[in-house]
Amino acid sequence: MNKINIYGAGVSGMTAAIYLKKRNPKLDITLYEADTRVGQKILKTGNGKCNISNVYLDDSSNYNNSLFIEEVLKETNSQDLKEFVLEDLGLVLREDDSGRLYPYSEKATSVLTAYVNKLKELDIKVVTSLRDTLDLTGITIIATGSYAQSKYDGYDYLTSLGHKITPLIPALTTLKVKEDLRPLKGIRFKVKAKILKGNKVLAVDEGEVQFRSDAISGIVVLDLSRYYEAGCEVSFDLTPEYSLADLKELKAKFKDEDEFLCSLLPKMLAIEVKKRKDILHQLKDFRFTVSGLNSYGEAQITKGGLDLKEINYDFSSKLKPNLYIVGEILDIDARCGGFNFGFAIISGLTAAKSILRKLKFFIN
Ligand SMILES: Cc1cc2nc3c(=O)[nH]c(=O)nc-3n(C[C@H](O)[C@H](O)[C@H](O)COP(=O)(O)OP(=O)(O)OC[C@H]3O[C@@H](n4cnc5c(N)ncnc54)[C@H](O)[C@@H]3O)c2cc1C
Repeated sequence: MNKINIYGAGVSGMTAAIYLKKRNPKLDITLYEADTRVGQKILKTGNGKCNISNVYLDDSSNYNNSLFIEEVLKETNSQDLKEFVLEDLGLVLREDDSGRLYPYSEKATSVLTAYVNKLKELDIKVVTSLRDTLDLTGITIIATGSYAQSKYDGYDYLTSLGHKITPLIPALTTLKVKEDLRPLKGIRFKVKAKILKGNKVLAVDEGEVQFRSDAISGIVVLDLSRYYEAGCEVSFDLTPEYSLADLKELKAKFKDEDEFLCSLLPKMLAIEVKKRKDILHQLKDFRFTVSGLNSYGEAQITKGGLDLKEINYDFSSKLKPNLYIVGEILDIDARCGGFNFGFAIISGLTAAKSILRKLKFFIN
């Protein structure tokens, strides 16, 4: 019973392996990775800096299934994550102005190197370039991540075991819109943004929108993409500090509309606002009709995954004994800022702790 097979050597799988082996060196752990090398997604994260976690990681409102997360965080929280990162991986963290946590080096390569070195140091077996059928003898952890910017997946592992996958869509991705964005290409501007369908506001956020010729982007848009529904629109408040009445008063101080708009906005944005009727209204509600989400090739995460009704709070399967499922393959997603990477670590640690408790009864 000391055999543990882990499918997927990404953040959650490697975390579980290292935590387990360090605390019980007798465990016979094998990590199976479909790619030629382990942990390759880490290098893509946080624009090459790897945003590992967030000081607000324990605030469950940052995740879709917040009630489930609340229960998980009772067992493993951000403090446990920090201890693992420092004491098991040997990485010091650095906090930015908005509470995002990065490796002190601000290099994703440091994070990958720390994981790889620990796997070697603890003599954990790693099999790469193999997408195998599941070996369910002993304990099995499925940690195969999601479709987002990944060549491989393991959703079929779960369905073959009778588990249910909720609908999957790309998230934390850019939005395609019906309007011509070419004149706005390259503009970045701070806004208050909302995504809405008809009169129903699906989500509100603040941050910097980035206009590309083919899509709207920026962290604020990526965060709103988690609430995408077919037929939705995005509205930008370009002047959140000013009410409509304030804007009327301000406008009166300028010679004409052009001068007024250029006093507030980058020139090309001012021109686009003026092209639409009622500029004061446009400043508060500059709207785009969303025609779709960009693909998994641009998305940072996948929304949807293993139905949480089918696992316990320690990430063990309710259907199959000795099976654990961790990381992004679950129906858990969160906003940008280190919450998804953080959750992958938290789930790996929680499953590992549960396995250690379970094995206490079997290992001498
Ligand atoms: C461009 C980009 C930037 C991101 N930036 C951030 C960020 O800064 N902060 C943040 O919080 N989150 C970020 N994320 C999200 C974060 O990286 C993921 O949520 C996290 O890596 C999920 O961990 P995981 O262990 O579930 O999956 P992964 O880390 O993706 O690991 C899964 C592993 O399983 C392997 N695999 C898949 N199928 C199989 C199979 N059948 N057999 C064997 N192996 C298999 C994969 O090759 C992969 O190595 C980003 C994602 C992307 C794509």
